[in-house]
Amino acid sequence: MSSKAYVSLLLIGTELTNGTIQDTHGRYIASRLTELGFTVTKILLASDDLSTTDDLRNLAACSDIVIVSGGLGPTSDDITREMLAALSGGSLDFKQDVWDDIAARFDVRKGQSNKRQAFVPEHFSTIQNTKGTAPGLKGTVGNTLLYALPGPPHEMRRMFDRAVVPDLVQSFHVETEEFLEATCFLLSESLLEDACGKFPRSGVSWGTRAGEGMIHLYLRGGMQQEREAFLGFLQEYFGKERLKNGSVDLPAYTVALFKDLEYTLSSAESCTGGLFSKLVTDIPGSSEVFPGGVVSYSAGTKAVYLHLDRSEIETHGVVSGETAAAMAQSVRVLSGSDIGISFTGIAGPGGGSTEIPVGTVWIGIAGHDGEIRTFPFRFKGSRDRIRRKAVAAGFLLLEIWVTEKKRLDSYRKWQYI
Ligand code: ATP
Ligand code: MG
Repeated sequence: MSSKAYVSLLLIGTELTNGTIQDTHGRYIASRLTELGFTVTKILLASDDLSTTDDLRNLAACSDIVIVSGGLGPTSDDITREMLAALSGGSLDFKQDVWDDIAARFDVRKGQSNKRQAFVPEHFSTIQNTKGTAPGLKGTVGNTLLYALPGPPHEMRRMFDRAVVPDLVQSFHVETEEFLEATCFLLSESLLEDACGKFPRSGVSWGTRAGEGMIHLYLRGGMQQEREAFLGFLQEYFGKERLKNGSVDLPAYTVALFKDLEYTLSSAESCTGGLFSKLVTDIPGSSEVFPGGVVSYSAGTKAVYLHLDRSEIETHGVVSGETAAAMAQSVRVLSGSDIGISFTGIAGPGGGSTEIPVGTVWIGIAGHDGEIRTFPFRFKGSRDRIRRKAVAAGFLLLEIWVTEKKRLDSYRKWQYI
C-alpha cells in the first residue's frame, strides 16, 4: 500500500527575509527527505517575529510533519520556543536537567542568557545538540509532528541527519519512488527540456536541477526499462558523453578512466589558467595519471616553458589551432605523457575581435601515436563560465580520444552552449 507523508519547512531568521544571507537549509532538508520518499510541499522563510506563529499554525494544519529551523539561540530575539509554546497552548518551563546538560558540555554558567535554551515548551522533548548549546525540540500539535532545529548550518545538519531522519524513517513508512539520475555536461536546461519533450509518450516524467558546471536530470515513474530507454534516447540525441548515467563528477570520471587504461596525461593551459590541472589534482590519486601541467599565459612563456617557436606563435596567433597543437604536443613530449591537452582562447570580457570573438577556445590533443588534433569552440557566458565550459569540453574530448576516437567529431554539437 502506498502512503505519502507531507512535510513543510519553516526557516526562521530575519537575516533570511531581509536578504543578508541566502537560505541553504531548505535545499539540504528537502532534497534528503525527497530522496527518502517524503513529499515536501512548502518551504517558507519567515522573520524572527511572534507573528510567524500564525504561519506555523497554517503549515501544521496542512502537513504531517513540520520542520522549523532557527531562532533557538540564547538572545531575546530568538523566539522559536515561545512560538511553539503559544501554538501548542502550553507553558514554557525551565528544565534543570536540560540546563545541567548544556552546562556540563559548555562553559556557559556565567552566560545566564544561555538559560533561555533550557526552557522547553510543555509536551515537547529535547534533542541533544552535540555541536552547540541550543537543544532541538520535538513535539506534536494536533496530528502534526513538529521538530525545531538550531539555525547554524553545522548544528542543523548534524541534528537533522543524526536525530530527525532516523526518527522519521522509523515513524513513517513512505514508499520511495524509483528514479534514474543522469549527469549532463555542456547542456542547458532548455535544450534538455526540448529533447525530453520529443521522447514518445511514456509513463516517465523528468526534472532537472542545475549544479556547478553540470545539470542533474531525474527520470521518475514508469518501469526501469522505460527510464533507461528514455536516457538512451537522450544519449543518442546529444551524444552519450554529455549524459552520463548516475551522479558523475567529470574530473574524477576522467582520472578513473585514464587509470584503468594506464594512460598518463599532461596539460598546457593558457586561457583556463590552470583550472584543468586544478580539477584533475583535486582527485586523490591523480598523480598516477597526471605528472603535471604548465600555465603559459603569454606568448613569451609559451616559448620559454613549452619551447615553442615565438615567431610561429606570432604568425598564427596565440589563439589558433596551430598554437593549440604545438602546446599539446610540446607538453606531452616534455612531460613524457601518453597524451597532452592544451587550451588557448579568449575568456573575455575584453580582448575579442570580429575574427576571434570572446568565447573562442581552441583545444589541442596530442597522442603517443603521433596524432595531433585541434578543436575550435565558441562558448557563451561570463569569463568564469567560458573557462569552465572549455575545461569540461577538454574532459569529454579526452574521454572520446581514449575510448572511441572515431566519434571525436561529436564535439561540433557542443558549440554555442
Ligand atoms: P544562534 O542564535 O545561537 O546562533 P539560532 O538557532 O537562533 O542559533 P539563528 O540565529 O536563526 O539560529 O541562525 C544562526 C546563523 O545560522 C545565522 O546567522 C545564519 O548564518 C545561519 N542560518 C540560519 N538559518 C539559515 C538558513 N536557513 N540557511 C543558511 N544559514 C542559516
Ligand atoms: Mg539566533
